[in-house]
Amino acid sequence: MNYVIIGNSAAGTAAAETIRQQDPAGAVIMLSKDTSFYSRCQLHLVATGQRSAQEANFLPDGWAERHGVDLRLGRTVTGIDAERRLVQCDNGELVAYDRLLLTTGSRSTLPPIPGMEGEGIYGLRNLDDAEQLRQVFRDKQHIVIIGAGLVGCELAEALKEVGHPSVSLLEMAPHPLPLQLEEVTGTRLRELMQQHGVAMYCGDGVTAVERNADGTPAAVLLKSGLRLPADLIVAAAGVRANTELLTSLGAECNRGIVIDEGCRTSLPDIFAAGDVTECRDVTLDRVMSSAIWPAARKQGRVAGINMAGGLASLQEHTGLRASVSLFGASMVSVGAVFSPDPTWQKKVYDHTDSRGRLCGKVCYTDNDSVLKAAILWGDISQAGLYGEAVVNRRRLGDLASSMVPGYRLQAVA
Ligand SMILES: Cc1cc2nc3c(=O)[nH]c(=O)nc-3n(C[C@H](O)[C@H](O)[C@H](O)COP(=O)(O)OP(=O)(O)OC[C@H]3O[C@@H](n4cnc5c(N)ncnc54)[C@H](O)[C@@H]3O)c2cc1C
Repeated sequence: MNYVIIGNSAAGTAAAETIRQQDPAGAVIMLSKDTSFYSRCQLHLVATGQRSAQEANFLPDGWAERHGVDLRLGRTVTGIDAERRLVQCDNGELVAYDRLLLTTGSRSTLPPIPGMEGEGIYGLRNLDDAEQLRQVFRDKQHIVIIGAGLVGCELAEALKEVGHPSVSLLEMAPHPLPLQLEEVTGTRLRELMQQHGVAMYCGDGVTAVERNADGTPAAVLLKSGLRLPADLIVAAAGVRANTELLTSLGAECNRGIVIDEGCRTSLPDIFAAGDVTECRDVTLDRVMSSAIWPAARKQGRVAGINMAGGLASLQEHTGLRASVSLFGASMVSVGAVFSPDPTWQKKVYDHTDSRGRLCGKVCYTDNDSVLKAAILWGDISQAGLYGEAVVNRRRLGDLASSMVPGYRLQAVA
């Protein structure tokens, strides 16, 4: 059996390991545009020089040999012939497959704003982006980051950690991490980031980038009328899934390649996993992209099992939105955190641990007090319990009784 995996990141490597466990004899060929292994979750640290590219490697030396993976890096796949079951690379190489896995992730996009295209605008999606930022950021006076999602927030934190004097973070939503936090916790994060010197502009949008006569950026103009000086701009607002290899074959696709619970695409013997996909999220009951590292790993494992003839399902998907630490505050969010059903009740609790420390938490429950979403802040040790409760539709009262002794839930008036 010839297994071909496109991509060598979170989803692709998880799939390769799993296939090898399931099928010791099959050929596993991994093709990737990237020329090394690295965790995208560490790119902000590479960009600020806090980590080297080698330190961002998430796999042990000799990983490919140990798992019997025929690793072909620096190869961009340019086309797939589904009838002849062949993958074509940019160097002319043709690779035959019996089962194919697409884990091509996504790429940064620039918002369609006057002045946005051109010098001085950066993305942060791959190692080259990080290296380019690292080379220039210290010489820039005013850094403006557009988009306060995971990438924008983590980059702003890293830039302040290395002492950059002027970092502004813009977000159209009313608070940072709009896909992971709601109003109460989002406001807390905004205040925390401000306390650490990040200038936060939420609920505002960029209307134009003003440029100097020599073409370099001068300022960012906001809807509110503000003008922020900016000689380096990072666009962390938009990503587009790299779906083209399968959409050209007619695969079902929305913003990502649609996969079923077994990570199968609508095309025979072609699977997909990670940021390039969309699948049904049980906690929101809608088809959407997860776009976080643990979800990509999980999808890779499920795809690997099914490609090798086993039977695995994403059904017990935790609904994890993020597990992130910013300026020393750990946060975990699970379930229908954003766009909750308007009929659900929002309950804000003080959650104290055995040492009496406060960890803010917000829950959504439906009319039967079934837990739909939760955000933990500070002490996140109970996150697994909450994740399990959301997926298995447990009532809030049952959850409180199964909590580790010492932890207490107290409704805030
Ligand atoms: C700066 C940053 C910070 C992040 N922080 C967090 C975080 O704190 N927590 C979290 O959970 N997630 C975080 N993420 C998101 C996380 O990194 C992604 O969810 C994860 O990397 C997705 O993995 P993937 O395997 O689906 O795709 P990717 O990691 O995007 O990898 C795609 C792979 O496909 C290859 N490829 C693409 N096109 C082709 C082609 N045509 N031919 C051959 N190869 C191709 C690429 O070379 C690459 O190997 C962050 C992302 C970034 C960029």
